[in-house]
Amino acid sequence: MAVYVDEAIVLRTHKLGEADRIITLLTRHHGRVRAVAKGVRRTTSRFGARLEPCSYVELQLAVGRSLDIITQAEIRRPYAEAMYADYGRYTTATAMLETAERLTVEEREPATQQFLLLVAALRALAEGAHAPGLVLDSYLLRSLSVAGYAPSFDACARCGSSGPHRAFAAASGGMVCADCRPAGVAMPAPETIALLGALLAGEWAVADPSALRHRREATGLVSAYLQWHLERGLRSLPHVERLEPGILAHPARSDGQDGDEADVTEPGGTGPGGTEPDGTDGTEPHGARSTDSTNDLSDDVSSDVTMNTGRV
Ligand SMILES: [Zn+2]
Repeated sequence: MAVYVDEAIVLRTHKLGEADRIITLLTRHHGRVRAVAKGVRRTTSRFGARLEPCSYVELQLAVGRSLDIITQAEIRRPYAEAMYADYGRYTTATAMLETAERLTVEEREPATQQFLLLVAALRALAEGAHAPGLVLDSYLLRSLSVAGYAPSFDACARCGSSGPHRAFAAASGGMVCADCRPAGVAMPAPETIALLGALLAGEWAVADPSALRHRREATGLVSAYLQWHLERGLRSLPHVERLEPGILAHPARSDGQDGDEADVTEPGGTGPGGTEPDGTDGTEPHGARSTDSTNDLSDDVSSDVTMNTGRV
């Protein structure tokens, strides 16, 4: 069986069968790859915990018939731990991972620049080198540029006349001059435009001391630009916490409701089932309903609901 090695960021995982997962990876040399990790949901798995989203890993993979199979995984940098320890970082990283997946359209098409950008952004986020919102916006602008959607924050995006210009039009590709300006464009503050240019160029000496109101305005323009180019919004973007000290988008709730304890019960739990009043002659096959009475190896600790039935 042919094997190869690569390094990768784990973008996403989902369950496969009883104990396996499909891992979506952005690799350095092979672009975006989906591969099977066998047995990783068992507690005895050697590398299950190393294949969580955000993990920066070195892998050995065996070429499979449809999907390759991960045969070895070693942590290269423990970015996942840093993200899971902080909700703001976690949601920021999630938006990055989703963007990376969306911008690498073809599987196995080499995307080394996207890989390097993502690694650098995760490192900056994990190390707390800059405000998470700035890291995210910089990453979004630069990954869009690598994907061929470079915005212009100086010369007119339409006619190329030299800036600075005052109007921003996402559909036109950035700043536009007075002659090219379509109706209904944004007119951001000059400081915001300077911030956007700095984020695109990675000039942190300019970006780091920027004012919060300019950061917020820049974030709105980056989001508009990204969503216009991706045609639909990233699912995770609205959940990104872009709260700086003293700026609370949503005041803390004080009504005593703790709605955060959402139970994550899996669908298809064995309910009472099958007691229709009449007409059930039993000829209808009841579907391939999986009986999860044999999931002793499951690591999902959510299946023990409905045990307290019949409190007479
Ligand atoms: Zn123009």
